[in-house]
Amino acid sequence: MRELRVTPIKNGTVVDHIPAGMALKVLKILGIGDGVTSTVTVAMHVPSRAMGWKDILKVEDRELAAREIDKIALVAPTATVNVIRNYNVAEKRRVTLPDRALGILRCGNPNCISNAPREPVESEFIVRSKSPLRVFCRYCDRELEDIAAHIV
Ligand SMILES: [Zn+2]
Repeated sequence: MRELRVTPIKNGTVVDHIPAGMALKVLKILGIGDGVTSTVTVAMHVPSRAMGWKDILKVEDRELAAREIDKIALVAPTATVNVIRNYNVAEKRRVTLPDRALGILRCGNPNCISNAPREPVESEFIVRSKSPLRVFCRYCDRELEDIAAHIV
């Protein structure tokens, strides 16, 4: 089996089975950009038996919070998250789309109460369809278009 051609890491997180082309969105979700302080490896358009093509992301010395994994599910529902400790896979987690997305998306409706600057409420979206992904604001019931662009 020709899998992972990237070198192993000692400690950190490997996000595998990202749909090809979505790795940069996952990077953005994880806040990885100019100021990054850990070693990050991105492999894009890697052959995958299961998916045809996939992206892989490795972040050294960082484990992901549950909320970060929920966010990844919004753009990469097929992803698997492997927690690496001392070169071994300590935990293997498949991302799952929650039925409700709490505090991880911003409503596209400027008049929505969840966007009110004075009485901020935590945003809440209801996932009404997972494939294709369709989410609706709990407060104004507006469907969120371009989900990836509205991740907080
Ligand atoms: Zn709303």
